Amino acid sequence: MNSKRRPLLAANWKQNLLWQDIEEYCETLRAEMPEYFGEDEAPLPDLLICPPLCYLGLLGALLEDSHVLSGSQLVSTEDGGAFTGEVSAAMVADLGCDYVIIGHSERRQLFSDNEERISRRIQQALEHDLLPILCVGEDLETRRGGSAGEYVQAQLAAQLEPLRTAAQQELVIAYEPIWAIGTGENAAAADAQQMAALIRGWITSNISAAAGEAALLLYGGSVKPGNISEYFTQPDIDGALIGGASLNPRDMAAMLRSCAGVL
Ligand code: PEP
Repeated sequence: MNSKRRPLLAANWKQNLLWQDIEEYCETLRAEMPEYFGEDEAPLPDLLICPPLCYLGLLGALLEDSHVLSGSQLVSTEDGGAFTGEVSAAMVADLGCDYVIIGHSERRQLFSDNEERISRRIQQALEHDLLPILCVGEDLETRRGGSAGEYVQAQLAAQLEPLRTAAQQELVIAYEPIWAIGTGENAAAADAQQMAALIRGWITSNISAAAGEAALLLYGGSVKPGNISEYFTQPDIDGALIGGASLNPRDMAAMLRSCAGVL
């Protein structure tokens, strides 16, 4: 964590929680973290919630008077038109979203999101003033083979032009080793820091020194209240992308407190 960048905890609810669960979640969050509600200045870290697409409007209404940011887990590769089932970046922006998660390994692995589609999603997001959170990360075989760094650099290189455009606003990259997502097996904080430093170095060399300095780098993979501070205290890690543990508002509150405690 570096005091020049605004730290961020991002909750990725994936395909979980129903209407009533979300109402209860927001009530509990309000009771646990009153500083995120009301008119005082927004506290740190920033909190971003990415619910399923169909509940973005509900979340926006429940958190209208709060400092909590909202994001989408997906935007279409297409601007609009005859694309049954798709939701465009313009629609997501219209719902008041600030961010969109792009390139998550579940979408790469289960829904054929290749580099070209990821690139188009980033472009769509940027055209509609959404900040993309680009997820990168290696599988277990690559990590064991010792080429995790090269693998992640190649993922970044495949998105060079969209990342150059994104850097004019703010680059947000989540390092999420695939073997750590939803497995309970989190990466060692030193390894996550090493990868974050490599990502920052890549941005500095390939985009600009200013973009490298300003980029917000998140770690994701089995983050929970008991381990979040290990990541947050690393110099190049500015926050976390959290799946499973973000589904419980009390755990989310504990993680926010833990991060606020080391700022
Ligand atoms: C994720 O889905 O981005 C993630 C990191 O999940 P989990 O925290 O459950 O490992």
